[in-house]
Amino acid sequence: MKLVRYGKVGKEKPGLIDADGKLRDLSAVIPDVSPQYLSDAMLAKLRKLKTASLPLVKGKPRMGCPVAHVGKFIAIGLNYADHAAESGMPIPKEPIVFMKATSCIQGPNDEVMLPKNSVKTDWEVELGVVIGTEARHVSQKDALNYVAGYCTINDVSEREYQLERGGTWDKGKGCDTFGPIGPWLVTRDEVPNPQKLDMWLDLNGERMQTGNTKTMIFGVAKLVSYVSQFMTLQPGDVITTGTPPGVGMGMKKNGKAAPIYLKRGDKVSLGIEGLGEQHQTVVAYKKA
Ligand code: ZN
Repeated sequence: MKLVRYGKVGKEKPGLIDADGKLRDLSAVIPDVSPQYLSDAMLAKLRKLKTASLPLVKGKPRMGCPVAHVGKFIAIGLNYADHAAESGMPIPKEPIVFMKATSCIQGPNDEVMLPKNSVKTDWEVELGVVIGTEARHVSQKDALNYVAGYCTINDVSEREYQLERGGTWDKGKGCDTFGPIGPWLVTRDEVPNPQKLDMWLDLNGERMQTGNTKTMIFGVAKLVSYVSQFMTLQPGDVITTGTPPGVGMGMKKNGKAAPIYLKRGDKVSLGIEGLGEQHQTVVAYKKA
């Protein structure tokens, strides 16, 4: 099942994408794709719906983040060996955990805004994991049972804020618009192996990132289990699981560092096998 939220910012309605790829309205069934509707029991109920009886949505509405009221937006750093190498950092012995501000969450195709005075805004295609059932100290073996589903995420990052301003990475990770999520929340029954998904990212039509979740250092089950030792994972929490090589910071020319950062007017496209694509235009900073 592919759950979505569509419509204007702040007024999104719940929907699903049917077997023919058509958008259908779910608002007569659930008020929103809220955390309480992500449990196995609720998803099983939704799965029993006769999708043909749900109203078709006309046109091509904006897509929002497919999960409403995300409580925690947790991120994993340097989780692909090649990306750690291009970042000039050692392969971590334990997962690196940091937080993205939930205020950065937006729809998959909304504009990405450069922060005020930013000169090092960068991209990161990542597999997103959405928690469906409360998880505390869960074993790696059981961990995937706590997952509602998966989604595509761009972990947009400001490298100067992240790495040159002292303290934790969080300063460069939670700026407004730095969390495009979606278009779909694909329930876990449709993703039997989250460690076998191709992923890619293009900048202005040129391929920058090519990867597969099989090269993660710590897989999804390990990450859910690991993070649940430090905080209770609640329904609707999102974990973004790290990025493969090919970020702007790591670009080289003739063997020398030649980073590329986002500028106004750039077009970023990214996707993960079976989880859908995102298309963003980069815009200059503007006051809210
Ligand atoms: Zn990341």
